[in-house]
Amino acid sequence: MLGVKAYNSFGMSEMCGPGVAFECPEQNGMHIWEDYYIVEIVNPDTLEPVPDGEVGELVLTTLKREAMPLLRYRTRDLTRILPGECPCGRHHLRLDRMKGRSDDMIILKGVNIFPIQIETILMQFQELASDYLITLETVDDNDAMTVDVEMKDLFIDDYAKLQALTREITRQLRDEILITPRVRLVPKNTLPKSEGKAVRVVDTRKKY
Ligand SMILES: [Zn+2]
Repeated sequence: MLGVKAYNSFGMSEMCGPGVAFECPEQNGMHIWEDYYIVEIVNPDTLEPVPDGEVGELVLTTLKREAMPLLRYRTRDLTRILPGECPCGRHHLRLDRMKGRSDDMIILKGVNIFPIQIETILMQFQELASDYLITLETVDDNDAMTVDVEMKDLFIDDYAKLQALTREITRQLRDEILITPRVRLVPKNTLPKSEGKAVRVVDTRKKY
């Protein structure tokens, strides 16, 4: 609308704020300043490095910082290094868009799931609003997941339509996370609101 081109940027307050990595005019990944950071992508469980192209946790070491150097700082941000050279000619590594946070990872029935995977699916449905809640429970000694999601302004009265929509959301979620969640569509403004960062996951599972 404004006739401007937007560029993606990555940063965090522990490093130097925005601009730790930035897109070039190719807009195919964000170049990270390797003259300032040592960049590593590791498996968040084993802490072993992963090959280029594979998603893992971004770990950074500052090279020039004096007052607060950070050595192998675990950012908890999940991304991958885009393999190959950038057509722009810069040689600094390119990071892909952030895929989520390693501390958000849910392990359900032995499968690693990130809330962002669920959010991405939900966002594709016009009928849904932006608030959702993932509840993890123990049912008959098994892990179970319920996804409550708010509908937009008008709650559909048509029960058959609502059921069809619920089925379609469930199917798409299963295809993405490989587990069948229970999906409940709820009227707008019925999910609990939290101050600050939204609480998206409630885990009430029995700990063994
Ligand atoms: Zn480039």
